[in-house]
Amino acid sequence: MSVSPLQAKSIEPILSVRDLKMHFPVKEGIFMRTGKFNKAVDGINFDIMPGETLGLVGESGCGKSTLGRCIARLYQPTAGQISFEGTDIAKLGRKDMMPFRRDIQMIFQDPMESLNSRHTVGQILEEPFQVHKIGDKAYRKKRVVELLDLVGLPARSVTRYPFEFSGGQRQRIGIARSIALNPKLIICDEPVSALDVSIQSQILNLLIDLQKEFNLSYLFIAHDLAVVKHISDRIAIMYLGKIVESGEGESIYRTARHPYTQSLISAIPVPDPHHVATRQILVGDVPSPINPPSGCTFHTRCPKVMDVCKELVPVLNGEDQPVSCHLFEQPK
Ligand code: SF4
Repeated sequence: MSVSPLQAKSIEPILSVRDLKMHFPVKEGIFMRTGKFNKAVDGINFDIMPGETLGLVGESGCGKSTLGRCIARLYQPTAGQISFEGTDIAKLGRKDMMPFRRDIQMIFQDPMESLNSRHTVGQILEEPFQVHKIGDKAYRKKRVVELLDLVGLPARSVTRYPFEFSGGQRQRIGIARSIALNPKLIICDEPVSALDVSIQSQILNLLIDLQKEFNLSYLFIAHDLAVVKHISDRIAIMYLGKIVESGEGESIYRTARHPYTQSLISAIPVPDPHHVATRQILVGDVPSPINPPSGCTFHTRCPKVMDVCKELVPVLNGEDQPVSCHLFEQPK
């Protein structure tokens, strides 16, 4: 197993993911037999260091949200390890997983769906303390007001319901809930995708401020590289269940090597009237992970496809900026 993609440096990673797979069985026929599998996550390796943000980017359907849900253990992965502070949590049962649920939290794309619309903001923010049996009523009420203050909402919000807030404010409530139990790692699953551009930067800046204050680690999932650039220390590009390129944020933008990464970068608008756009438009949609293309799974859309790409699966290789593409194979 190659463990090169996003390697540990001087200190221990808070999260190490090794050869992680999530294959959903696909039921077919009148007897609903399992013949095929949806390989949404298919052999992923990466590390996240304390206080670091790893941006995970790819189009819809490439498996990045499934990967996030595996790490938060909303799904039981098919195979592989999820090592959190040295403990493999990939196969832990409900009870054994409970202490780790405090440390690993999630922020979802649509806070309206993830917040209980029949509960007040006060009830929503008190719930994590009740579930984990932390503090008495007075302590919880005090913490709720502190959390609201941390995310820039007034104390009077406690008696209001989620529908009374704007999209950006609702995401602030979702963020407040995610930090309630002082977590160490937060999986941010497209947290600004549903928001106006002007609000996006406010939420990103809030996440950056909270990260500095509490030394949080983020796995920041997005389909938009421009959003990820703002917040990520390192970036991993995902296509059809696999990481195809990864590296430091700046080097991914300056020297993207994989043709898929290059296409995603070319789609970022440049605020310069003299800039001549050389956009590489991706043809077609992400193929089905149930019947992925042979060889390099990107070959059906790649502008640089060669004969070998249809036959042989490229291997992720390289030190600082590993890439899986036959154009960058190391000489044997
Ligand atoms: Fe394109 Fe071939 Fe590289 Fe795949 S291996 S990205 S098809 S050049």
